[in-house]
Amino acid sequence: MGIECLVLGAGQEVGKSCVVVTINGKRIMFDCGMHMGYLDHRRYPEFSLIPNSQDFSDSISCIIITHFHLDHVGALPYFTEVCGYSGPIFMTYPTKALAPLMLEDYRKVMVDRRGEEEQFSSEHIVRCLKKVTAVDLKQTVQVDKDIQICAYYAGHVLGAAMFYVKVGNSAVVYTGDYNMTPDRHLGAAQIDRLQLDLVITESTYATTYRDSKYVREREFLKVVHKCVAGGGKVLIPTFALGRAQELCMLLHDYWERMNLQVPIYFSAGLTIQANMYYKILINWTSQKVKDTHATRNAFDFKNVISFDRSLINAPGPCVLFATPGMISGGFSLEVFRHWAPYEENLVTLPGYCVAGTIGHKLMSAKIPTQIQLDEDVQIDVRCQIHQLSFSPHTDAKGIMDLVKFLSPKHVILVHGEKPKMATLKEKIESELGIQCRYPANNETVCIPSTHHVKAGASDAFLQSCLCPNFKFFKTDFERGSDLDDDFPQGDECCSTVQPGEEGR
Ligand SMILES: [Zn+2]
Repeated sequence: MGIECLVLGAGQEVGKSCVVVTINGKRIMFDCGMHMGYLDHRRYPEFSLIPNSQDFSDSISCIIITHFHLDHVGALPYFTEVCGYSGPIFMTYPTKALAPLMLEDYRKVMVDRRGEEEQFSSEHIVRCLKKVTAVDLKQTVQVDKDIQICAYYAGHVLGAAMFYVKVGNSAVVYTGDYNMTPDRHLGAAQIDRLQLDLVITESTYATTYRDSKYVREREFLKVVHKCVAGGGKVLIPTFALGRAQELCMLLHDYWERMNLQVPIYFSAGLTIQANMYYKILINWTSQKVKDTHATRNAFDFKNVISFDRSLINAPGPCVLFATPGMISGGFSLEVFRHWAPYEENLVTLPGYCVAGTIGHKLMSAKIPTQIQLDEDVQIDVRCQIHQLSFSPHTDAKGIMDLVKFLSPKHVILVHGEKPKMATLKEKIESELGIQCRYPANNETVCIPSTHHVKAGASDAFLQSCLCPNFKFFKTDFERGSDLDDDFPQGDECCSTVQPGEEGR
């Protein structure tokens, strides 16, 4: 029996992560994400491709969610409450605490503000999360008599985990999103050396090699300082959790050092609430944050004030963190419309923006430019654009380091762009000698799994394995020779080979 991987999402793209792995009849779904670039049926993974899709609870042994980002958890309430899956679901404690915030925020934006058809309700989110079993890092969980799982720290965002799954003799690691270098608020991914048949890894930055963090931080602070010194407003669109805290810690320290009085705002209640969670879940943050925790909580941003809509057109410089990160709608878009036409203002973009978002359009735009928002609204963009190279994802070196460290028999790349994945596949195969695939969405790949066969062995045989002077060779071995009587019969046996005799 091999390992069958059905990639339902994040195959040669970033969005709606969902990989269904079948080993010995056990079926594990890794992540159940939503695609933020689509509003039609492509938003969700094609669940009907799962075998026995009329009864998902019977077909799927368990679901594992790696972290709270919507492209990893966004389809879960739909899958449990609308599609009817009622089996076990696992995620870490912080993910269980934070995922409902993200889901509810998304639902509100889509349904309450944009009038989209409701895919799942608040009630669905609550009921869905009740079915979740929270796990700790490095806690081995026996899902049923055959399946064992264990979570490892992934960096990336608060509570993110890589998951090790063992079914019989076959073992797989699904990384989810991870970061191999520590940042200010989170540590680097950490995993044990494991015996693995397969590693399924993200590959967002499959061909990117980053400069030192110090250079990137200095560059960011320089453009922000220059903008506010010139009286401009800085819009930092971010996800509510993650980059917001990372950049806020950076700015906060800089503001104190430079004694700057320009206000720093956080846009919505969500982010303030998120900071509270960081304070509670301090054990999941970086070593530095934990070490200084006794004297000062790094998430107490005393210079940071809550933003009010009436401040959008207020005079004077300021810095504003606003969601969502890729300016795909919501408050960051509302503010962008007001601030983008002025040259003195600055908009920072995340390192990665999904196609179809304003962030993505701005990445390749030459300023000044015009952006068509919808049929009636066009935005004149004259502000400065700064692309951040801060990312909670590992770069290509980190992916190579992890794959080399784990040395699995096979690698599957997901959560990346096709041409870059092709380059990384070549590199993994040529430099590490490990077979690598990067299937498209809705494609299944089969990986041969390890076969362990029980065999009797004599002391002499075991001795031969330990002693370098023993080697195998073909012989017409007959029972009753000078070897032990209980040595298994066969046409292969072992003998002492003196140096220089190997050619026998
Ligand atoms: Zn993520």
